[in-house]
Amino acid sequence: MTSLLSVRNLSVFYGAKSQAVEKVSFEVDTGAVVALLGANGAGKSSIMKAVSGLVPGRGEVHFDGEPIQTLSTRERVRRGIVYVPEGREVVGDLSVRENLVLGGYQIPAATRRSRIDMVLDLFPEIANKADGAAWRLSGGEQQMLAIGRGLMAGPRLLLLDEPSLGLAPLLVRRVFERLEAIRKETRLAIVLVEQNLRVTMRLSDEIHFLRGGRIVGRRRAEELKEEAARQEVIDAYLGAGAAAE
Ligand code: ATP
Repeated sequence: MTSLLSVRNLSVFYGAKSQAVEKVSFEVDTGAVVALLGANGAGKSSIMKAVSGLVPGRGEVHFDGEPIQTLSTRERVRRGIVYVPEGREVVGDLSVRENLVLGGYQIPAATRRSRIDMVLDLFPEIANKADGAAWRLSGGEQQMLAIGRGLMAGPRLLLLDEPSLGLAPLLVRRVFERLEAIRKETRLAIVLVEQNLRVTMRLSDEIHFLRGGRIVGRRRAEELKEEAARQEVIDAYLGAGAAAE
């Protein structure tokens, strides 16, 4: 069976000499959640941007069995690859609802309306603020809006870049609970970029550990149920910062 996303020997360069990603390979099946875990600068965002077409990458990237390396970001979105960048990037002056409309600008109006209802059902925290300005939302609510906006395009693969960034632990938990709900209800595949092992484990099937632009280790989430196993990968691949919740 072919994977939904297949990344083989992907390298990303910024300029001739600066290599951010070195021959990274991984697969994502329909309905699976695969995490890329690593410290700042490990190359996680560069992988996401190369898969979504925002930066050029060398190597092979296949989606649904077809090579996508030469396709524009727009065409990749049309095929179902949607990137939710780190830092949320909601448009503060627009309302929550208008931000969602932006995420679904390319779909027919009737579908857009029903998707907005679906997103607001999924995130009740933002539903009762739908007509207020997005800047009024808390950090966690803005993250929900950013994910919701990504869902508006009807993705088959969601590339989620550090959804826990800058959020208090309680809000991180809430955002991840919603992601688990999405997992249960849909066949959506997710590539999740994170620095925090504990929150990542709950949602993911498989975790790839990155350092210096390379994958240095891989584990199935079920292999990390024991505290000792978690500590081992933290020591081997991540360093102390990743243990914090
Ligand atoms: P973070 O968690 O801080 O976002 P990351 O693991 O996502 O880190 P990347 O953002 O992919 O890492 O960065 C990997 C390397 O590439 C870093 O050394 C970074 O400085 C470099 N880099 C990233 N973006 C650019 C750019 N636009 N131009 C030049 N170098 C870049």
